[in-house]
Amino acid sequence: MEKRELLYEGKAKRLFLTDDANLVISEFKDDLTAFNGEKKSSEAGKGALNNKISTELFKLLDSKGVQTHFVEMLDDNHMLHKKADVILIEVIVRNIATGSLTRNLGIKDGTILPFTLVEFDYKDDDLGDPKLNDQHALILGLVEHQDELDKLRRVARQINAILKPYFQNIGLNLVDFKLEFGKDSNGNIILIDEISPDNCRFWDIESGEKMDKDRFRQGLGGLKVAYEEVLNRILGK
Ligand code: 5GP
Repeated sequence: MEKRELLYEGKAKRLFLTDDANLVISEFKDDLTAFNGEKKSSEAGKGALNNKISTELFKLLDSKGVQTHFVEMLDDNHMLHKKADVILIEVIVRNIATGSLTRNLGIKDGTILPFTLVEFDYKDDDLGDPKLNDQHALILGLVEHQDELDKLRRVARQINAILKPYFQNIGLNLVDFKLEFGKDSNGNIILIDEISPDNCRFWDIESGEKMDKDRFRQGLGGLKVAYEEVLNRILGK
């Protein structure tokens, strides 16, 4: 598949057109950003790790009947996937309280939530990704119908029901994660973007160690070692 002109450059990926109008290529970058782009760095090899981790997780979800944009991993930094119109809603799934949930609501860090919490953030950097309720999402026209919001929640819970035990099995608590969805050329809602330690929180079950982008956000160091460990556990190494 030929990589054609640049369509879009985001904080962690570049998106390229291909010779097939329905397919695009994501290039996973080594750049790291946090706090809405205020903190920036780069870690050689980070993009390849996220590409490989996302590939394995998309394959897992595909095998369980979740519709995703994934087609194939092309090389270390490139993934071929379906083109989709992005829905500007970040779907946040939480099993354990930390991050903005503890900051906003004063819930003690590390509290196991009585049920899985699914939240919506408006994907808008200029506004700092504010929280959305269903009425906000409909007023903003981010989706057409309430049904679509219900579907985002349903699929997010389905994904959590697959990933949470999967990670538990390899010694990681899936604390929380962010999903993005889009509409394919047939109007179907599909999972897009990536699933990696850049947009998930993983805590080692035994040591409690953070194995995700919080190592960068909180200046803990050892980010690449942690991402490599996540990939190795996924690959059963
Ligand atoms: P929080 O709202 O606590 O900052 O984040 C909740 C979860 O969603 C974390 O796993 C975090 O990595 C992910 N998340 C939330 N917003 C973003 C975002 O704008 N970019 C990325 N990469 N992840 C996000």
